[in-house]
Amino acid sequence: VTAADLLLADVEVDGRRVDVHVRDGLVHAIGADLPRSGTTVVDGRGGALVPGLHDHHLHLNAMAAVRRSVDVSPEAAPDRDVLARALATAPGTGWVRAVGYHESTAGPLDRDALDELAGARPVRVQHRSGALWVLNTAALERVADHLDDSEDVERDATGRPTGRLWRYDARLVRALPDQGPEQRAALEQVARELLRLGITGVTDATPNLDARAARLLSATDPLRLHLLGAADLPDDELPPHASRGPRKVLLRDHDLPSYDDLLALLDPAGAGTGRRPVAVHCVSRESLVLTLAALAELGSVSGDRIEHAAVTPPELEPALRELGVAVVSQPDFLRTRGDAYLSDVDPDDRPWLYRWAGLARAGVSVCASSDAPYGSADPWQVVRSATERRTLAGSTIGVDERVDAATALASYLSPADDPGGPPRRVAVGAPADLCLLGVPRDEALHAPNRDLVALTLVGGVDPLDGGSIYHDNNGTDPTPLREPP
Ligand SMILES: [Zn+2]
Repeated sequence: VTAADLLLADVEVDGRRVDVHVRDGLVHAIGADLPRSGTTVVDGRGGALVPGLHDHHLHLNAMAAVRRSVDVSPEAAPDRDVLARALATAPGTGWVRAVGYHESTAGPLDRDALDELAGARPVRVQHRSGALWVLNTAALERVADHLDDSEDVERDATGRPTGRLWRYDARLVRALPDQGPEQRAALEQVARELLRLGITGVTDATPNLDARAARLLSATDPLRLHLLGAADLPDDELPPHASRGPRKVLLRDHDLPSYDDLLALLDPAGAGTGRRPVAVHCVSRESLVLTLAALAELGSVSGDRIEHAAVTPPELEPALRELGVAVVSQPDFLRTRGDAYLSDVDPDDRPWLYRWAGLARAGVSVCASSDAPYGSADPWQVVRSATERRTLAGSTIGVDERVDAATALASYLSPADDPGGPPRRVAVGAPADLCLLGVPRDEALHAPNRDLVALTLVGGVDPLDGGSIYHDNNGTDPTPLREPP
């Protein structure tokens, strides 16, 4: 439906039941009993109308790649037999791409182990850490010309490659057949999935997007994109609907830069407070301490943000507050990875994992996000996790850091360039990026669930074409054509 004029009738906005008239991509009018003639009408039945949600940290190309991959995580492939079957029955005919592998399934993999599991088709399996690809012999033969002499290509005593390639993503892509069409189709599906969740915009947190990766992202149109990897991308390479965000800086926690190197990473041009804002990946206490010290020396600039801040002890609160940097957090990791945290994370760090309420009390802006595909993209699940902080096995982590659902949802409504800032509102003149729920807001906050999303509009248009919920107004009252969820 591309109706220029849309009337969202009987929707709840800021606690009041009103009609909302959408025209030319904007919220044109809000009021009681707005005229219906000449508009397409959606009967909201008192459901909440909120701004379209914005996921402040995810990875679109990786989400699409996962869709084209076989899941061989311990959850999906718990043992050797299931792993072999998953690889043997991979759809398609060419390369098999498998992700999420962990040694608990069938021990360390190399080309010989993979040849036994899946010999005929070229197969590459990514370790769960993301740092290692293992290729079988058929795959190695196809990329032979791209195996360099670095230590990243593991070799046995005779110099024969073992199939284990470390940190080889960029070099592998050059060796593989062009996957552009498949990737674009998968990106379109990813966008539809996000829209169905009520999401109208996302911040892609992948560092250093090259022109090819940026071009692919145009397949997610009409999602609004905010890119942390586009600092060096020329304007004409930016996909439509995309804006340039702070520059993502990835710190390797097992190989932290020296303090001086970090200063240069954060401010490569030496521009001081004239520098571009940064989004610094910090998942350890050490990386956060180092980053905050460097930002204090350089002077913070508006837009600086910390990704993850997985471990934030209280002594860092004053620095975070004074620098005014936002913390972009992933509370749902407490659900999906929390049981591992409880056994693996240093006991001294455990009280300070993915904090929220305590940081907010200290005056720090905190914002929820998914980090999909490494976490679930479902914002309603993320909101639940922020309120519960419960692991899959049922333990809780840092109950004092729980926030209510309204706080967590509000962070999804904060603007792309101000994560955790004041939420956007449904207001006259604002872009009609909207999410209509099947129930009033209080009910949705009581039991946040993806099934509550009834309609998503981007620029006044429903990209999913809900179809049956619309009807052209013929002067009669609208009759609901679709049951609310
Ligand atoms: Zn990420």
